[in-house]
Amino acid sequence: MNSQLALWFLIIMTIILVLLWFKNHVKNKRREKIFFFPFPEAFEQDIIDHVPIYQYLPEELKQQLKGHINVFLSEKYFQGQNDLKITDTIRVVIAAQACLLLLNRRTNYFPHLKTIIVYPSSFKNPNAHQDHLGRLGESWVRGPVVLSWKDAEHGASNEHDGRNVVIHEFAHQLDQEDGVSDGTPLLQSGHIRTWGKVLGKEFRSLTIKAKCKRRSFFDHYGATNAAEFFAVITEHFVEQPKTFHRKHPDLYQELKKYYHIDPLSWGL
Ligand SMILES: [Zn+2]
Repeated sequence: MNSQLALWFLIIMTIILVLLWFKNHVKNKRREKIFFFPFPEAFEQDIIDHVPIYQYLPEELKQQLKGHINVFLSEKYFQGQNDLKITDTIRVVIAAQACLLLLNRRTNYFPHLKTIIVYPSSFKNPNAHQDHLGRLGESWVRGPVVLSWKDAEHGASNEHDGRNVVIHEFAHQLDQEDGVSDGTPLLQSGHIRTWGKVLGKEFRSLTIKAKCKRRSFFDHYGATNAAEFFAVITEHFVEQPKTFHRKHPDLYQELKKYYHIDPLSWGL
């Protein structure tokens, strides 16, 4: 009887695994197809007009980014708040910045994220979380990303200031892919040890500087906790690679290894 039960258990488990594999296979095939859909010229113009960092990308990464945006837009739902009408420009400008974090590596396209809620600006939503810069942005584990369009647009418009609320919130999404918001995203095996060592040391150093109100390259907001640290250093990594690399070479290497991109080589 026991061996019969074990057999049934094995059969059911096998069926479940095959179904899961098949579901995944269909999803990946669909994504591969959408990735290569023609990218509308108007979308690219929106990116050129609003996301100046795009111009720095090598041609191969521009093509990759467009493919990722195609998939992202086909899977995520944008919801406007306070009478904000969601336009293609809003969708594309947010998607372009978010997808910068997906280049050059296997990605599951922020799997827990279904909806991006967009407010016109931070002023009309006094109940939402704001950081010390007054930017509106939130990223919930298995929940929506909340953004203010005004801040998303502003963050993209200056590609050198190390402040980008969309990149910040989507770095949180990557961190939260494993179900916890702790500043450690899913890492390749063998990377965890140096990651913990280097990020731990840099986080402690920033915490001390923030406490003593001493100047630091990284925004003091990163000293809030490990999750904010990861989101803040990602903003600096993408927008200020030269200074980042000069002042914090070990940390730069860790992020380069995780993100599989080297913004320093883009000439930013
Ligand atoms: Zn944050």
